[in-house]
Amino acid sequence: MARCQSPHPEFANYTAATGFNCDGTDQCWVDEVGNFGTEAEPECFCVFHAPAERDPFDRDDWPMARRPALQAQRLLAYLEQWQARVTHGEERLAFVLPELKCGAVDFRRTVFPGPMVLSGAHFSGSCNLRSAVFHGDVKLSWTTFHKDADFHSARLQGAALFLQAEFKGVAGFDSAHFDGVADFALCRFHREADFESADFAGDADFEGAQFMGRVGFGTARFAALAAFEAAEFAANADFRGTRFGRDASFHGVRFGGNACFRT
Ligand SMILES: [Zn+2]
Repeated sequence: MARCQSPHPEFANYTAATGFNCDGTDQCWVDEVGNFGTEAEPECFCVFHAPAERDPFDRDDWPMARRPALQAQRLLAYLEQWQARVTHGEERLAFVLPELKCGAVDFRRTVFPGPMVLSGAHFSGSCNLRSAVFHGDVKLSWTTFHKDADFHSARLQGAALFLQAEFKGVAGFDSAHFDGVADFALCRFHREADFESADFAGDADFEGAQFMGRVGFGTARFAALAAFEAAEFAANADFRGTRFGRDASFHGVRFGGNACFRT
C-alpha cells in the first residue's frame, strides 16, 4: 500500500512499540495518500503533508477548497483510533505526526492519553483546546498557529514544549496547568498572550520570547524557575499578583510598554 513519502526524524525516534502506526523508519505512517507525481514515478503524500501548490486531492471527495477541513476531519479520525488503542496503565503509545498542516480544530475538553509529537505543525485555522487534558509530553516546538490558539484551563501533565513556536493570533493559556516543564523559549507572540492565573508546577522557560501584543501573567503561579532572560515585551506586561516560588530571572529583558509587578 502506498504511504506518504514525507520524512521526519521524529518518525524514526518512535518505534512501532511506542509510536502510533510508526514502524521505525523516518517516513510518515499515513497511508491515505494522493499521487502528486506521475503513474511511472509516483510521489505520494497524505493530506497533512501535501504540497500546497499542487492538488491531486482536488477531486469530488477531497476538493482543494476543503483541504483544511479535511485535514481536521482526518486528524480527528486518527486521534480517535489512537485514543482507542492507548489503554491506561500500559506503556503509552505516542501520537507522532510532525510538520502536519491542519485547518481549524475543536478539541475542547478532549483527553489526549499519551505523548504527542506535532513539532513544526502549521495550524491554518483556530485551535480550540479549552480544558483539554494531555496525559503525556506535548511537543509543539516550531509550530505556527496562524489563528487563535486557546488552551484556557487546559491541563498539561507532561512536558509542554513550545520552543520557538509562533502564535499569530491570540495565545490563550489563562488558567492552564503545567505539571511539568513549560518551554516557551524563543516563542513569538504576535498578538495578546494571556497566561492569567496559569499554574507552572515545573520550570517555566520564556527565554528570548517576543511578546508583540499585551501580555498577562496576573495571578499566575510559578512554583519552580521562571526564566524570562532576553525576552522582549513590546506592549504592556501585567505581572500583578504573580507568585514566584523560586528564582525568577528577568536579565536583559526589554520592556517597550508599561510593566506592572504590583502584588
Ligand atoms: Zn504524511
